[in-house]
Amino acid sequence: MAETLNFSTVWWDGKLTAWENATLHVTQIGPASVSSVFEGIRAYINPNSNESNIFRLDAHLKRFLQSIRLVRLQCAYTLPELRDAVVELVRANKPEADAYIRPFAYAESRTFGAATSTRAQVVIHVTAWESKLKTDAVSHACVSSWTRLTDNQMAPRVKASANYLNSRYAAEEAKRNGYDHAILLTPQGKVAEGPGMCLMLVRDGKIITPSVTSGILESITRETILQIAREKLALSVVERAVDRTELYTADEAFFCGTGIEIVPIVSVDRFDIGAGKPGAITQRAQTAYHDIARGLDESYAEWRTVIGKQ
Ligand code: PMP
Repeated sequence: MAETLNFSTVWWDGKLTAWENATLHVTQIGPASVSSVFEGIRAYINPNSNESNIFRLDAHLKRFLQSIRLVRLQCAYTLPELRDAVVELVRANKPEADAYIRPFAYAESRTFGAATSTRAQVVIHVTAWESKLKTDAVSHACVSSWTRLTDNQMAPRVKASANYLNSRYAAEEAKRNGYDHAILLTPQGKVAEGPGMCLMLVRDGKIITPSVTSGILESITRETILQIAREKLALSVVERAVDRTELYTADEAFFCGTGIEIVPIVSVDRFDIGAGKPGAITQRAQTAYHDIARGLDESYAEWRTVIGKQ
């Protein structure tokens, strides 16, 4: 596994474990994944100090514990214990590049229905994942023919592995049809989110994004950008239902999420967004997010858990 070469240690149910020993029996593949929930967290290297900055660790762990609770599993670890686990794990792996931390909780089960056990087993691992924030990545997106999940069906607010089948349908279809990413609509035809990211529009200098009751994951990046936009960029932000044709008439649009970070959407369904290239507000948001996440901008220190060089 080339991408995990530098990250040889996994945290599994209370202790650091060598990568090759962190195994689960093959018969658990289906049953364990049905009830599983996870998180994705980035750790950015500050090029001045070479320290690793885990970004918004507590917010991700809070959402992780909420997801575990909502699938009715019991977690043996508190948020401070999980925070210590992540810090211990990142230290043990000594990342010298940008990394991605993946906490995962599952219950052992013999069946695809209710888990046999309600005890959440927690495993956390780290992989390398370079930031694309300072690259010229853009997205040509499409509105998906698939509909986003709903709260009373498979709640998008819960970061459950099973929800990602809906994401997979949409992402695969978009790629097959020559697009970079999909945008899913709610059953009511309002804009929800991408398969693994939220999205924002800019119209008349204002940031507009679907509200948290629009069939989205309550994204930490979304919340971060809204706060930065208000406080650092002095922009108005509006959270509300968004129509499909607002996508086509926006001046700017961008995807946001821990994995995708901030990627400008330059077309939707082959309609150019604005001038068909990254807009000024999107670029300002990218720069501000980059500098804060890496700790180059020292504000919002509470968002960064700094792992120094030993
Ligand atoms: N929506 C979905 C479906 C996601 O998987 C993600 C990635 N976690 C996001 C939105 C963005 O969430 P966050 O900013 O917390 O990473």
